[in-house]
Amino acid sequence: MTISGSWQRTARGAGLLAPDGRIASTIFAEMSGLAQSTGAINLGQGFPDEDGPAEVLDAARRAIADGVNQYPPATGIPALRSAIAQHQKRFYGLSVDPDREVLVTAGATEALAATILALVDEGDEVVTLEPFYDAYGGLIALARGVHKTAALHGPEFQPDHDELRRVVTDRTRVILLNNPHNPTGSVLARETLELIVELAHEHDAIIVTDEVYEHLTFEQPHIPVATLPGARERTVTISSAGKTFSTTGWKIGWLVSTPELVTAILAVKQFLTYVNGAPFQPAIAVGLALPDSFFEGIARTLQAKRDLLSQGLVKAGFQVSRPGGTYFVVADAAPLGYADAATLCRELPALAGVVGVPISAFVHEEHAHSYASLVRFAFCKKTEVLERAAAQLGGL
Ligand SMILES: *Cc1c(COP(=O)(O)O)cnc(C)c1O
Repeated sequence: MTISGSWQRTARGAGLLAPDGRIASTIFAEMSGLAQSTGAINLGQGFPDEDGPAEVLDAARRAIADGVNQYPPATGIPALRSAIAQHQKRFYGLSVDPDREVLVTAGATEALAATILALVDEGDEVVTLEPFYDAYGGLIALARGVHKTAALHGPEFQPDHDELRRVVTDRTRVILLNNPHNPTGSVLARETLELIVELAHEHDAIIVTDEVYEHLTFEQPHIPVATLPGARERTVTISSAGKTFSTTGWKIGWLVSTPELVTAILAVKQFLTYVNGAPFQPAIAVGLALPDSFFEGIARTLQAKRDLLSQGLVKAGFQVSRPGGTYFVVADAAPLGYADAATLCRELPALAGVVGVPISAFVHEEHAHSYASLVRFAFCKKTEVLERAAAQLGGL
């Protein structure tokens, strides 16, 4: 059914509806459909195919049995807010007031939505890195903001400092970071984070930092931008239990910021979901208190999976990036004779029984040519699945 009428002008104006009134179909839907119809291994979508820690799952079951099934407080249950504050202290040395500086949200997605809607007025500029997580473009459009980008350059996928200096101006309201970075797997250098804090001060911008992969870094510890001198008072840090505890369907996320910013964001959040996930909140509090060995273990396991899939991709003839974090690796199809990764992605299920997503899905159309031959593969899958994928790719 196509819909018409003046009430859809807003969604259409924000670019969320196609001219014919349908939701424009994305390459993600197309590739997942292809994985289903061909039985290919789906390394296109970034969700884990294994359950997270039993302690966390058990705590949620217990909470439901114990009657934790009604609306939690608007900012999140005290036990979870306090676990978040303790987590910030334990891993990053940050002192956080659990009552005034923490807000539990319906996943990192709602934290991003409420933050952008709270801070961005019509015409305000929001600077992101490019490629960017697809929700950023949609949320900036909903707020009627103007989306500016600083390109990440392969093979390390770092931004050029001069370009950052050019793109952040007095019109910039928010610098929206994602570190570690989806889709490239890159981790920003400390010098880049320092520059971003400097630019935020110079132009009176707020730093919103999506750090959902904070515990999924390899070879180097995660540096939250909020730990840099001068950053905290103008930074909103966003996390996701889904990514840390392999519970993406629970949609428990949170943000940490100043009391003033938290209040402004809560003003929006109360009318988005109000609250969510009552029995999951105490379970994530249990997860955040797990010993260091758990957090080290998930990173180590994932690093081995990165190496396993990367080897298969190299054997297939791709030029492969070396992600410092996340569960994504970028493979360049140019050495295989494919200038257009979208073409390769459509053929790959038949050629190797594997599905990936072209990086061009994460960039503005006018910049797609710079990323044309790149594919994102997810390695957050069971080892035996990745072994099979690597073997099939190796036969390319
Ligand atoms: C998965 C993801 C999110 C969304 O997290 P949820 O907690 O599932 O809402 C946000 N940002 C990035 C970069 C992600 O990869």
